Amino acid sequence: MSEKRGKLFVISGPSGAGKGTICKRLMEDSDPEDLALSVSMTTRKPREGEVDGVSYFFKTKEEFEQEIERGGLLEYAAVYENYYGTPKAYVEEKLKAGTDVILEIDIQGAMNVKKSRPESTFIFILPPSMDVLRKRLIGRGTETEEAVELRLSKTKSEVSHIRDYDYYVVNDDLDRAVAEAKAIFTAEHQKVEDGVSELLKNYGAE
Ligand code: 5GP
Repeated sequence: MSEKRGKLFVISGPSGAGKGTICKRLMEDSDPEDLALSVSMTTRKPREGEVDGVSYFFKTKEEFEQEIERGGLLEYAAVYENYYGTPKAYVEEKLKAGTDVILEIDIQGAMNVKKSRPESTFIFILPPSMDVLRKRLIGRGTETEEAVELRLSKTKSEVSHIRDYDYYVVNDDLDRAVAEAKAIFTAEHQKVEDGVSELLKNYGAE
């Protein structure tokens, strides 16, 4: 087991910006010992094809509220009238084992993590434009027209929170967006302030 703790990466962005696809690619290209994706809990109903325990842990409102009470969530937020939250135990276990963890969560949740774990890295994923976003949401076919409009109207205000993040990635071309995200992860691991004590030992310096 590695002595070094893993790093927490928080990824947010408007619905349909392609966060999920980017995270999936990051996972496919990484060793499970290096990178883990946190599976959130939610009270929203599963969409077609979503698997309990893989996409989300699907819970009732009562079960979710019990989890809040128990202190089992690293953060949680109400998004579109449903609860979403990050189970704390899994994240802790991975970080302790030296594995980086990605949280793909909304802005409210991200800001809560910023308060409780300010050392985390915050990445904002943007769609190339509002037009492209609208097409993507409609193309996904999982939302009613009303829900698409609700999400779009939220997008504008969401983007204005970008200044609270450390990095941004515009998901115009998927391969480039994934490469940019990987570059951010790499850069975070090369920070002198984090790694220098361990490194200097190899040089007989302090
Ligand atoms: P969806 O219902 O489309 O899967 O997700 C809706 C929103 O909830 C997305 O912005 C997603 O990032 C966010 N979300 C998913 N899991 C969590 C979580 O554990 N905590 C918070 N705060 N937001 C989450």
